[in-house]
Amino acid sequence: MFSFFLVIMVLGDDCMPELPEVETVKNTLKRQILNKKILLSNIYWSNIIAYPEVPVFKEKIKNQRINDILRRGKWLMFELDDYFLLSHLRMEGKYFIRKKGDQLNKHEHIVFLFDDDTELRYHDTRKFGKMYLLEKNNAYDVKPLNELGLEPWDERLDVTYLKNKFNKKPIKIQLLDQSIISGIGNIYADEILFLSKIYPEVSGNKLSDENLKDIIKYTREVLSSAIKLGGTTVKSYTSSEGVHGRFQEELLVHTKKICPSCGNDIIKIVVGGRGTYFCPKCQKR
Ligand SMILES: [Zn+2]
Repeated sequence: MFSFFLVIMVLGDDCMPELPEVETVKNTLKRQILNKKILLSNIYWSNIIAYPEVPVFKEKIKNQRINDILRRGKWLMFELDDYFLLSHLRMEGKYFIRKKGDQLNKHEHIVFLFDDDTELRYHDTRKFGKMYLLEKNNAYDVKPLNELGLEPWDERLDVTYLKNKFNKKPIKIQLLDQSIISGIGNIYADEILFLSKIYPEVSGNKLSDENLKDIIKYTREVLSSAIKLGGTTVKSYTSSEGVHGRFQEELLVHTKKICPSCGNDIIKIVVGGRGTYFCPKCQKR
């Protein structure tokens, strides 16, 4: 009964869960662990706990109830009685719900025991994930949340905001910059630029107002649509409630061979170290 699992497996160099995947994990966990009380935590890989020191973390999280789960950028935010527990999945982080006493998997590094004898286990084969336990009253004013740019749906995200933020670096790199718009990753950046008909290496500060309007419009459209479809997952995606990430069926350019708009060959280049797909005819230099 408790073999609930939530797995995200995506493409090679794009295997980082992006905003829609984190939103899907959030919604699935909300159905599973809301209102449970954390009796204690076991930390088997202490580097995942970025703040505070592990003994303090363990002491503070005792007897805290999970009242809500939020998301900011790619951070999951467990709202406890007195704290926010922030969790970034990075490349491979996953959450599993297990029963107390179930055998520990070697990749399960953090375990939270609940008052109903179930456990929330953080599983991370790469161990790149991070957690912070922050006082609720100033969580947004300190690292890492104070380093994040606007959410895609924030009404302050407009042409003026982007003009002030974008510089001469390639637009693709700046779309991935979490301090400008938070939550866009490699897959969705390619889709947004394709729909906006913008060449990925053009300087951010060379874009017209129309280009910037398109970026805002398509950022919202692409991410909303991906959230509705449970995110993008290429190999498999399973959760306790049978949610499948179906957005990969909707991808227009990322990992594609032929442009769905003009029939031209899609080209793959590397921008800022990230595999980048674009149509040279629809996205002219
Ligand atoms: Zn095309």
